[in-house]
Amino acid sequence: MIRGSPAPELRVPLERLQRLKPLRTWNVDFEASRLKDGDVPLQVGDVLVIADKTIRVELVLDQTSDGVMVAGVVSTTWSGDCSRCLRPVEGTATAEVEELFEEHPREGESYLLHEEFIDLEPMVRDAILLELPVGVVRCLRREECSDLSLKFLGAMDEEGDSEASAVVDPRWAPLEALVFEEEEGPRNS
Ligand SMILES: [Zn+2]
Repeated sequence: MIRGSPAPELRVPLERLQRLKPLRTWNVDFEASRLKDGDVPLQVGDVLVIADKTIRVELVLDQTSDGVMVAGVVSTTWSGDCSRCLRPVEGTATAEVEELFEEHPREGESYLLHEEFIDLEPMVRDAILLELPVGVVRCLRREECSDLSLKFLGAMDEEGDSEASAVVDPRWAPLEALVFEEEEGPRNS
């Protein structure tokens, strides 16, 4: 793809918002490599989103007097190595977003609303980076991991076993089941 042009998956034409109802959904799946800063990995420490992993975007766009409000869920799969046994570990990063896009964005508060489209990429990137686990990542095969640690690492401390595993934050688990309908109107709860 041409560097600098947003992936179509992340470029919402504003005319769609205007022509259809004021509130509409934008649900797309795309590979992480489609992000235009494809060479800059989505990475925090040793945890990253590999280029061929799917990023799922499930959003509701709502035109307001200030700009366009974008809310929903951005999710993907991260990869890393277990801090103890070095086995590869994967997990899900699920970010809940609610962001305003406006013509004159305020740094750290809102995103740029282009004249004819919304470029979701900066928001998607920020949302995922914030959800990647920071610090210790532990594999899910606890038994084997512990065995290994005993075998090779001797009396290594057992601290953090209860909380250090970087699996999905249970608070977001219900969001994984959340599905927005493509052409349906607002579903207010
Ligand atoms: Zn392990």
